[in-house]
Amino acid sequence: MAITNGTTDDRYIVWLDIDNTLYPRSTRIAELMGERIHEYFLSLGFEENDARELHLKYYTQYGLALRGLMKHHDIDAQDFDRRCDGSLPLETILKPDPKVRKLIQDIDRSKARVWALTNAYSTHAKRVLHILQLDDLIEGVFFCDYAEPNFSCKPEREFYDEAMRVAGVTDASKCLFVDDNLNNVKAAKSLGWGCSVLYSEREEGHTMKEHPQVEGVDVVIGRLEELRQVWKHVFTDASS
Ligand SMILES: [Mg+2]
Repeated sequence: MAITNGTTDDRYIVWLDIDNTLYPRSTRIAELMGERIHEYFLSLGFEENDARELHLKYYTQYGLALRGLMKHHDIDAQDFDRRCDGSLPLETILKPDPKVRKLIQDIDRSKARVWALTNAYSTHAKRVLHILQLDDLIEGVFFCDYAEPNFSCKPEREFYDEAMRVAGVTDASKCLFVDDNLNNVKAAKSLGWGCSVLYSEREEGHTMKEHPQVEGVDVVIGRLEELRQVWKHVFTDASS
């Protein structure tokens, strides 16, 4: 499902993951999400340990704990979203980063379109992009449609295929993708996406002499700024 429908287009398309990619891991938002999901399991009557086990099992098996909950416990996905992602105090945690904004701005729109590709629901995706002051730079958001009983998510093939269809992309080699999740990046590469980048966030000041080689991934970066080099062909000349 997407917020904006695209039309067929020959330009490259940059797909940006949102959570832990467009903002730093040090915000600990992923941990806060995990705590809320745990609380949700407890609210269904599970004991502490059973809740932890099931949470992990569903996450591993279905890509998202929510999908296991929908499949086996018939829960209301919108209620889950409100109580988990929707209750995160994002406005007090997230701050816009001018460098990230400039990076996305410097993608030459005559060469590439910019979309987000997220396993979150549209409300969370839009909220994060708005707080980060990036929403005006993102043409479309392809998200997990919690309103559908059997929605797909990364790293499932149908999710990427549907994202391409909705964005009007027919040539997978035109897709440039960055995500902090290894399985998501591997999946994109296995589908023939043009360049699939694993963002393995490096702390400020920490230098890495060489990028590690990871099987099934085109490139590993430690800072988002490195995309200017990796995807040189879609950035404005003055920016690289
Ligand atoms: Mg992520």
